[in-house]
Amino acid sequence: MKIHEYQGKEILRKYGVATPRGQACFSVDEAVAAAGSLGGKVWVVKAQIHAGGRGKGGGVKVAKSLDELRQYAGQILGMQLKTHQTGPEGQKVRRLLVEEGADIKQELYVGMVVDRVTQRVCLMASSEGGMDIEEVAAHTPEKIHKVFVDPATGLKDAEADDVALKIGVPQASVPQARVILQGLYQAFWETDASLAEINPLIVTGDGRVVALDCKINFDSNALFRHPDIVAMRDLDEEDPAEIEASKFDLSYISLDGNIGCLVNGAGLAMATMDTIKLFGAEPANFLDVGGGATTEKVTEAFKIMLKNPKVKGIMVNIFGGIMKCDTIAEGVVAAAREVDLAVPLVVRMRGTNEDLGKRILKDSGLPIISADTMAQAAEKIVAAVSAN
Ligand code: ADP
Ligand code: MG
Repeated sequence: MKIHEYQGKEILRKYGVATPRGQACFSVDEAVAAAGSLGGKVWVVKAQIHAGGRGKGGGVKVAKSLDELRQYAGQILGMQLKTHQTGPEGQKVRRLLVEEGADIKQELYVGMVVDRVTQRVCLMASSEGGMDIEEVAAHTPEKIHKVFVDPATGLKDAEADDVALKIGVPQASVPQARVILQGLYQAFWETDASLAEINPLIVTGDGRVVALDCKINFDSNALFRHPDIVAMRDLDEEDPAEIEASKFDLSYISLDGNIGCLVNGAGLAMATMDTIKLFGAEPANFLDVGGGATTEKVTEAFKIMLKNPKVKGIMVNIFGGIMKCDTIAEGVVAAAREVDLAVPLVVRMRGTNEDLGKRILKDSGLPIISADTMAQAAEKIVAAVSAN
């Protein structure tokens, strides 16, 4: 799960991380009022969307008067902000963060992720903070320093200080950087984050170390123990099809292709997508109906897939184990009837009650194409879609 920058900064503040003072706003008037109450002479208006690269896309502006601030807030609020992380259609801006302008002397980068190889939290830090960290990682990886944190001790003082010096924090500001790095680690650990990034972490003209941006993603499997974080969820930022699917306990991810696939089991779903690609087409989604799919669940899954106008065919690939083939077949027939299926449908099922399942499909009188192997199923759906 993702949250907005202003929400991430609220979390970081609880862990002692210095951030600029700021306020989330939902209208231009609120933004002007927020700047007034923050005081000072320079403010920054920042689009709040669940994607980075806002600065380059025109979603971060420095205002030097309240008139300018009103103008920028009006421009950014409601805009369709396009960044390298939003996709070509962009993301509509519904919230702003108005914060005090910082006097930036250095822009550094710090981030944390879970490293699967060492099974530890990996702190990554670089002197090259700001808006091009992906370039730094790709072209000058030696400029990124890593620490694999021992979970028994947490990030040690010496480790934090060493990294701070390596990325160019001036000696006098190292104690502040240590507080921030350890606070970030503590926040990461206690909130079950999967990624936490401060880019840029700045050193100001007067030597203060401040988190100027913040991105935190959380492990969805751990959200049950963080109701306060779940409350920060912003459904406007999420794919409507994925939200709908989660209501029915379906694991669904939208993709760019035109062949919808309905599969039980994540591994089989991945293999199905690969097989579709092997036959020259692209999957429109990942969809795992899970082990206990009912007729209702299968019907909802069909509805969700078919809401995507790009879908020109559907491939169902089921391994009947706990889930019996006849149950799935009944679900498929009911769903195809309920949604008036107008695109080709190929079904391949193997396992428990396979014959019974196949008979149900055949006796339904629906134009369902059946297949015996996964390759055959993929070949048939790709052919049917390209013939249409
Ligand atoms: P993004 O990473 O989405 O582009 P950032 O929050 O990192 O957004 O902002 C982009 C740039 O805007 C920063 O690298 C920094 O130079 C500038 N900036 C952001 N917040 C402030 C602020 N409060 N004061 C001054 N400059 C800022
Ligand atoms: Mg940034």
